[in-house]
Amino acid sequence: MWSATVFTLYPDMFPGPLGTSLAGDALTRGLWGLEPRNIRDHGQGRHRAVDDTPAGGGPGMVIRADVLANSLDAGLQPDDQRPRLLMSPRGRPLTQSRVRELAAGPGVALVCGRFEGVDERVIEARGLEEVSIGDYILSGGEMAALVLLDACVRLLPGVMGKEASGQDESFENGLLEYPHYTRPRDFEGRDIPAILLSGDHAKIAAWRRAQAEALTRHRRPDLLPAKR
Ligand code: SAH
Repeated sequence: MWSATVFTLYPDMFPGPLGTSLAGDALTRGLWGLEPRNIRDHGQGRHRAVDDTPAGGGPGMVIRADVLANSLDAGLQPDDQRPRLLMSPRGRPLTQSRVRELAAGPGVALVCGRFEGVDERVIEARGLEEVSIGDYILSGGEMAALVLLDACVRLLPGVMGKEASGQDESFENGLLEYPHYTRPRDFEGRDIPAILLSGDHAKIAAWRRAQAEALTRHRRPDLLPAKR
């Protein structure tokens, strides 16, 4: 079973929104597994401290290397094959192709940072790969982990209906998706494009392709192959 172990200071945030809808049904049906682990269980002293002031000074607090390492060592078997990802704005941005790769594997071990982040030495010593969900700063890695998990889980076998295999979606073919329409045929004087009602599947496919290309050129030219 595809499984996620999540290291966090806020285990109550899981499954959170992933307990409802598609991902929640799949969790109940045993199509994937989720184990949140509280980093604080390995905190220091009576107060189970997990963080300390940054070496060299500066604002904020940093999660201690020893505390996080102990939490990881207690939560992961030495032969665990799952990628160990640290949610981090410094990481390589998450893409749909990486999501496909992760969904095709055995699962993930996710580490959620808090405060200013985690001591660099635990990243090195435990081989954590930093992954970002975008160029903005969250208050913690939990939301980022939920985003990554949602993107992976919907691709697991049996989670989506077969008509919604996801092959046609934005990014799957290097393009944004074409526009969708459904009933009513006339909405406040706006008609569904006639070609979509023509029944000519080849023409419809060509129209959708052209729409997807135009949309991508306009909104996300960075997705198109570089012209040379
Ligand atoms: N001081 C850090 C930001 C810390 S934000 C910096 O400037 O890089 C606190 C935690 O939130 C991070 O450790 C990380 O786990 C998570 N986080 C914040 N933004 C994120 C993003 N864009 N993608 C993934 N995780 C993020």
